[in-house]
Amino acid sequence: MVNLVAVITLANGAVFARAEERVREYCEVEVYRDKDYRGGYDDHQNITDRIAAEDVEAANNMRARLSSLDRGRITHSPELQERLAATRDVELGEVEGSRWKEVKSGLGLLFSSFLSLPGTTLAQCTTVLHLKRPHLIPVLDPHVVRFMTGNDFGNSFSKGELLQMALECLDSARADLVSNRTQFSELRSNLADLPTPLSGVRLHGILCWTQENWVNRADIAGPYGVAGKSLNQRVAPPAAVSASQAGESEPAGEIRNIREFRQVKLRAEGVIVTTGSKPPRAHRALCRELSEERFTEAVVFNEGKKGRYYLRSALAEAVRDFQAVACMKCRPERPVIGRE
Ligand SMILES: [Zn+2]
Repeated sequence: MVNLVAVITLANGAVFARAEERVREYCEVEVYRDKDYRGGYDDHQNITDRIAAEDVEAANNMRARLSSLDRGRITHSPELQERLAATRDVELGEVEGSRWKEVKSGLGLLFSSFLSLPGTTLAQCTTVLHLKRPHLIPVLDPHVVRFMTGNDFGNSFSKGELLQMALECLDSARADLVSNRTQFSELRSNLADLPTPLSGVRLHGILCWTQENWVNRADIAGPYGVAGKSLNQRVAPPAAVSASQAGESEPAGEIRNIREFRQVKLRAEGVIVTTGSKPPRAHRALCRELSEERFTEAVVFNEGKKGRYYLRSALAEAVRDFQAVACMKCRPERPVIGRE
C-alpha cells in the first residue's frame, strides 16, 4: 500500500514531500548513533540537570571541539547549571503560544550563560544543550542557522548577535513544528523502527541540515556513504524524470555544440554540469572555468569521451542526476535557498 504522507512546508519555503526518506538517508550516511565508537549523537542524550564531563565528551564526538579547559568551565559554571536545571525538556512544537515567551526567555538566559564562556560558539552551545534537552533545543550549527535565517556566519558576529540569531532560529523552528504538527507526528511514528527515536525538534533539524548541506551546497559525502536518493523532495514523484530509471540511456539536457553552449552562457540561467571530473562538477553558467576553449576541447575534439556538459535548472537537479558537487570558484549554491 502506498503511504500517503502529508507534505512538510517550512516557513522559508522549503518543501519536503518525502521527509521520511530524507531522514532515513541521513541516518544511513551521517553519524546519528554510536557505531564502533566513531561518534554518536541521538543515542547520547542524557536528560539530567547537570552538565557532566561525559556530556561534553558526547558533544565532542559530534565535532563540538571543546577543549579540556572549556570542559572545566562548562561543568564548573554554577549559573549555567542552574539555568539548565530550570529548563524542562518539553517538545518545542508543543509549547503553548501563551507560554512561549517565557520559555524562550529562559532559553535565552541558558544560551547566554553558555556563550559567555570564553571562545565558545553557538554550535558548541546548542550541541551540548541539545543532548541535555533533546526535545526542546535544536542543534544550531552554521548550516542550520544559514538555512533558517539566511545568515552566513564566520567569526564576524558578536555573542549578542549570535544569541539574537539563536532566538530567531528557535522561533522559526517552533513555528515550523506547529504549522506541520500532524506531518511531524506522522513522520515520527513512521520512523519508530529506527534504533534511536528522534524528537520533533531533531527531525526538523535533520531536514534543515540536509537541505542546506546536501541540496543547497551540494556537499553530499558523509562518513558512511554518499547521499542521493532523497535529494529531490518536490511534490511530483521523481519516477518520470529520473535518468537512472531510463536504464542505460544518456541523461537529458546535454549541451552538444558551441552554439548551444553560447546560448546557455548568454541566458546565464541554470547550472552547468561538467562530467570530466570525479565527482562531476556543477557550475553557474557564468563560471570562468567554463571557457569556450575548454568546451571545444572536451566536446568537439575529444567528442565527450573525457567528459560532457549538461544543463540543469537548479543545483538540486545536478546533484540528483549526476551526484555533482558545487564548484568552489563560482559557488552555484549561493543564490539558491531550496525554494520551488
Ligand atoms: Zn564553477
